[in-house]
Order: sequence, then C-alpha cells, then structure tokens
Amino acid sequence: MIPAEFINEVKDRNDITDVIGGYVNLKRSGRNSKGLCPFHSEKTPSFTVYGDTSSFYCFGCQTAGDVITFISKIENLDYVEAVKFLANRAGLVVPEEGKNDGLSHMRLRIKEQNREAGRFFYKSLYSPAGKQALEYFHSRGLTDEIIRRFGLGWSPDGWDQLVSHLNGLGYKREEILAADLGFTSRKGGLIDRFRNRVMFPIIDIQGNVVAFGGRKFTEDAGGGKYVNTSDTLIYKKTNQLFAMNIAKNDKTRELILCEGYMDVIALHQAGFTNAVAALGTAVTPQQARLLHKYADRVVLSQDGDEAGQKSIARSIPIMKAEGLDVRVLQITGAKDPDEFIRKFGPERFKRLLEGCSNDIEYSILRIGGKYDISTDDGRLHYLREVCDYLSGLGTLEREVYASRIADRLHIEKSAVLSQADASARRREKSEKEKEFREMARNTAGIGSKVNPDRSAHLKGSTAEYALLEMLFSHQDLIKKAADMLPPEQFVTEFGRRVYSKFIEIVDSGQELTVSLLSREFSESETAEIIRIVNSGESRGTGDFGELIEIIRTEHSTPRPQDAAKLSPDELLEQMNRLRKKKT
Ligand SMILES: [Zn+2]
Repeated sequence: MIPAEFINEVKDRNDITDVIGGYVNLKRSGRNSKGLCPFHSEKTPSFTVYGDTSSFYCFGCQTAGDVITFISKIENLDYVEAVKFLANRAGLVVPEEGKNDGLSHMRLRIKEQNREAGRFFYKSLYSPAGKQALEYFHSRGLTDEIIRRFGLGWSPDGWDQLVSHLNGLGYKREEILAADLGFTSRKGGLIDRFRNRVMFPIIDIQGNVVAFGGRKFTEDAGGGKYVNTSDTLIYKKTNQLFAMNIAKNDKTRELILCEGYMDVIALHQAGFTNAVAALGTAVTPQQARLLHKYADRVVLSQDGDEAGQKSIARSIPIMKAEGLDVRVLQITGAKDPDEFIRKFGPERFKRLLEGCSNDIEYSILRIGGKYDISTDDGRLHYLREVCDYLSGLGTLEREVYASRIADRLHIEKSAVLSQADASARRREKSEKEKEFREMARNTAGIGSKVNPDRSAHLKGSTAEYALLEMLFSHQDLIKKAADMLPPEQFVTEFGRRVYSKFIEIVDSGQELTVSLLSREFSESETAEIIRIVNSGESRGTGDFGELIEIIRTEHSTPRPQDAAKLSPDELLEQMNRLRKKKT
C-alpha cells in the first residue's frame, strides 16, 4: 500500500490542468478548461477540466474523476501504477513498493504465461504435428525469418495441450482463466482457448506479449475465422495496435494502417516496416493517440469491400481530431496489399503509397462513385451529398474543393459554395437543438440511473444539488447544515447518501475532496458528484437557509411531478426558475 500522504503529495505536485493538457488540447474558459474528449469521439468539446476541484468531467460520455483516474484511464494503468506514473512525472520517489499487491501480481503472472504460450505456439509450429500450419504460412509467401520476427505459431489440435503445459509450469486454473488462454467447458474442465489455429501474438510497445489472435486455416476446423483474446488485466483491444512494437522503430513518421495481420506481415516482409493493424474495425481515439506518438501521417490501407470502406469513413474523423495527416490508399487490381505485392511487387506498391489521395479527395471520390453524373438526377443528388460533406470542412478546404467540384459538374463555383453554406447552417442548427435537448434532459436527471428520484422531484433535488455544491466549496458550513437538516430529510436517496458522506468525512477531520469521494462511490456516482460540485454557479452562502427550508418542505410534503413529460423548453425554463429560487 502506498501511504495516503504520499498520494496527496503526488496529486499536489501534478496540476490536473497541466497533466491533462499533455494529452488534450485544452482551451481555457473562465476558471475551467475545455477540449475534445480523449475517451470518446466528438467534434465539439464537452470534456471539461475543473482546476478548482481538481477534477474532470465529460458531458458526452460521463467519464470523470481526478488526475489519477485520468492517467489510469488514458495510459491503461491500475491505480498504483498511475500513482507511480505521476510520482515519476513530478520527480518523486515512491516510498514503498506495493509488495504482493494482488492485481500487480496477477498482471505479472498473465504476462509470463503469455510469453510461455507464445514460445509454445512457435515450437508447435515447427513440430511434426504443425506441418500443415507451417505449410499454410509458406504458401502465403512468409519466410521462416519473418515467422520468427513476428513470433507466429500454431495452437495444437486437441483440448488442453497448452493448459496442461501451463499447469506443468505451475500456473493455476484462475491464472490461466485471467489470461484468457483457457476457458471452462460445460463439464467444468479447463480447455484451450485456441485450438488448431495459426497464431499471431500481439505485443505491446514495451515488448510484452499481451494477447493472441488465432486464425482458422483449414476448412474442417470449427469456429469462426478468428478467435481473439478478450480484454484482460493487461490487454485492452481498443488501446493496442498489431506490430506497433516493430513499427515504432521506423523513422519516417509515417505509418500504414492495414486491416489484418497478414497484410501487415506481408508489408514488413516486402520492406515496409511501418505497417500496423488495428484490432477492431474502426480506429479508436486511444489508437489514434498511439499512432500520433510515432507518426504525423497515417496511410489507411483497408480492403476495397463495403466493410473496409465503412471503417475508413469512421476512422478518418477520429484520426483528424487527433491531428494526424490522413491518406487513403486505393488498391486496384488486387483485393488487399498482401495480394497486390505478390502480384506486382514492392516497387509498384511504393508508387501506390506515394500517389495516394488525402482524406478529402478520397471522400469526394467515394461520393462521386455513387452517382451517374451524366444524368440530371444523378448530378443533383451528387451535388447535394458532396456539398453536405464540404459543409463539414474548413473555409480554405471548402474553397479549393468547391472549384474542383464545379469544374467537374460544369457549374459556377459560387453555386457549390452557397449550397455548402446552406448545408452547414442546417447542420449547425440541428446539432445545437440536439445538444440543447440533451443538456436539458441531463440537468433534470431524466433517465438517470444514478439518481432515479431526481426527475420526479425536480424542485427538491435541485435544492439538494445546490446545497451540496455550496457545502463542497464552504466546508465550514457542513456541521451547521448537519445540525439543521439531518440526512433523513433529504428528498432523493442519492442526495442523502452524498450528504451523509460529506458529514462523515468532515466529522473524521479530513478535507472533502473529489479524490476522497471517488473511493466511496461507484464510477458513475462519482461522475454525478463531480458534475454537482462543479455546476459553476459559484454561489455565495446567501441561500443557505432557504435551500435547507426547500429540502425540508419537499421532504415533508412531496409534490412529485414528472419532468420527463415536459418539453425541452419548459424543462429548461423550470430549471432556471428553480435555480434562481423564485418559485
Ligand atoms: Zn467523453
């Protein structure tokens, strides 16, 4: 265990706005800062950092917490590791190693097992029984050298070959389950997760084998085309990229993002050692960040099929939000890079890379492919869709591409631009309306799982929230409040629990902080508390008596109303009235 005083010092020495500013481009607004959320994909910033309360909150995905939570989420670390990370950042030395900490021990055991499993699969590939799997790799053009470099392997056919190998090395059932290398059969036995598949180890940038992908290579084998390790204590699919451990050494600051393991390996074998693959369909914000660590430009190389094109469309905005220069590779004459290189050779592929279009050209081309512009109807539909797309671009880009589209359709550039403007206004209006509706519903707690009583007792709960916010910033008032209003008189169950915790913490002589509260409440409850204590009213203490009176009255004579039945406008008006307490 790391002593609490040390954790406090770590927090003091790591200003939350500074730390988060290293990951998110933050803009100051008043005493707080805002930016694009690193945990979900968005175009308008709803991720807020509160310097006063040392906390953050995302209005889009409700992710929230203190500086340690932020680091553990973004770096995928557990609590202790996140504290160490921040201690390092501030130049502090962690006093005592968290010896035999249950979780870190388990992580270590998973890492070791994965390394063993990787060796086992590689050995099996070169055993007589692995002949067919090895032939498969050779038939796909892979050399033994590249097989070794990627640590490819074969998981033997059978039920528990790896499991018994691991047992023999002293790994226990729960450890094998935690690594997802085995699973419990219907009869209760432990069986291999991967059976008769060619194996691709996924290695993180520190060089640890963190997961495996197993691909079916014979028709008679059962199951789907791929079996993959599920998320474990050391692996999160959305945070990793296949072959990043090798590609990170490439010095070109350019990465090629492929669809599958085989594409990546084929490219590496042909000399393109900057190829990686995402392990899901579209790129996640975390993966985009990892890409940006090693590259300024990413070339998307996805299959030409529907699924591949969809994944490009979803990935482009996420990578652009991260600040990456995005290019899209268009392969003609082959279905993927692997096939292309085998057919035409690496030189042709290199030229393909050099000539690939940027994301805007690609998107415009894509839209063009959907319509027959030799007909009036086709031209009209094309213009509408392409202008809708243009409306989402910056002014300069809009100018440049409007000219090209105008030329293609033989119309005036101004016509394209005005159509794009109209589109932009429509979009902005509908986005604003949507945001407004969402906000009204959120503030009124409609559909809230954390505080289900709130929307039915809007008046009482609004007073509760206002009181809690006031008490958080004027902690000397908590004792007085407790004397005047016992927790039992709170209207909502959640408000009551938070209020009781406030009193309990202050009674024990501690300072009330978001970090302390986050240890007492669940993640979503903590998020709600962070929203409450930062709701930005920065009220004085003038309403103190009145708020207590409202809560007391609402408790003794409840007048429930269903906020969910109000329109967004009525709702907002009501909320404003309640906050200004002119009821
Ligand atoms: Zn978010």
